[in-house]
Amino acid sequence: MSSTRIRLRLDPIMCVAHGLCAELFPERITLDDWGYPIIDPTPIPPALEEHARRAVEACPTLALLRERERLR
Ligand code: SF4
Repeated sequence: MSSTRIRLRLDPIMCVAHGLCAELFPERITLDDWGYPIIDPTPIPPALEEHARRAVEACPTLALLRERERLR
């Protein structure tokens, strides 16, 4: 049987650094001194997946990406 896990990834070229994602998902996203997100790369537990989805969908430039990995 296989399952999946989710990680967040940032496209730094698309990001305009207004910080909305960090407001919506502070458990895994903080901002650097210039307002660019610092993303915790560790897999997101199921309890936080909804927060991650909200942050990804709120990003106005599609810079925040959700990647699903299949585990064997
Ligand atoms: S919401 Fe999107 S554009 Fe804004 S800081 Fe986060 S990743 Fe960058």
